[in-house]
Amino acid sequence: MRIEQDIKLDYQDVLFKPKRSTLTSRKDVDLTRQFKFYNSGKEWTGVPIMASNMDGVGTFSMAKIFQEHKMITVLRKHYSLDDWKVAIGDGVKMKYLAVCTGTGVIWDKDAPDYNTMKAVLQKYPDIPFICVDVANGYHENYGDFIEKLRYEYQDKTIIAGNVITGEMTEELILRGADVVKCGIGPGSVCTTRLMTGVGVPQLSGVIECADAANGVGGHIIADGGCVHPGDVAKAFGAGAHFVMLGGMLAGHDEAEGEVVDGKVQFYGMSSNAAMERHGSRKDGYRGAEGKVVELPHKGPVQSTITEILGGVRSAATYIGAKRMKDMSKCTTFVRVNNVVNHVFTRFE
Ligand code: 5GP
Repeated sequence: MRIEQDIKLDYQDVLFKPKRSTLTSRKDVDLTRQFKFYNSGKEWTGVPIMASNMDGVGTFSMAKIFQEHKMITVLRKHYSLDDWKVAIGDGVKMKYLAVCTGTGVIWDKDAPDYNTMKAVLQKYPDIPFICVDVANGYHENYGDFIEKLRYEYQDKTIIAGNVITGEMTEELILRGADVVKCGIGPGSVCTTRLMTGVGVPQLSGVIECADAANGVGGHIIADGGCVHPGDVAKAFGAGAHFVMLGGMLAGHDEAEGEVVDGKVQFYGMSSNAAMERHGSRKDGYRGAEGKVVELPHKGPVQSTITEILGGVRSAATYIGAKRMKDMSKCTTFVRVNNVVNHVFTRFE
């Protein structure tokens, strides 16, 4: 047994140190980034914020609003090809979409999510991103799967995860991923840290994974744990190329969910609620690692998007970053002592 003694930090453990800046207004900050991806060789320009592939978040209604801001939506994997046909006909464009799959096809060649992904990509070859979403990206057969997928879809930008350490970020990129999804346990409806005791505080994890990805020419997504616009800014400050959001976007009109007494249900994708809704492998060994919460109905997501983008812009002006690209090199974090707050927000 070994203990790493250096302190690992979450978003709430730091603040940006303000710096002298020549920016006169937050509207002068350029939030777009241009990336060339390591394996696909494809270029992409946009605002690097993603809606997570969760029920109530990765919806076509969300995609319609997100594309207006040049932001990406990773569609929940339970949409059928017919759902896609309706949505594309209804004005959802492809440039800012990712189609999602799990890895069930490793065990079952009839895995519906994988077959739907194939059919969607056949029908809509302009979709740039494939997201392969599993809770634990450390399995050897996960890397094998990414390698095969890379071979099959050479021109697609592959998003793979989740991991939260540098060596696995490198491995996934070297095996064919372009963008690694980083975060084990920070999610608002995730119970992995409680159920398994596994995880790494998100800010430190993102710093480590971004560093590893930069070393091999890849990119990362800071996935999970953002509760306030300032957390999104901190993730970019930590070096994330993209930030993925679940809970901050949930509970809006675009969730495509039912509103009961002014409340919207939101659940983790490995919660019992999700397993019941979508069915899943029940092998007798699987425990739920997600929970259900009730959120107040928040109305149209546009106002939340405005707050998030406004917060990030403002953070950039405080640290003197003219472009999103400059945020991490302009960042100095100061540690703050809010241990009590930390305990309450984590285990509420
Ligand atoms: P949030 O922005 O809500 O803090 O985090 C969203 C992320 O939480 C998702 O993108 C996904 O990676 C993760 N997530 C979603 N559902 C679950 C779940 O049931 N269990 C776990 N461990 N993580 C989840």
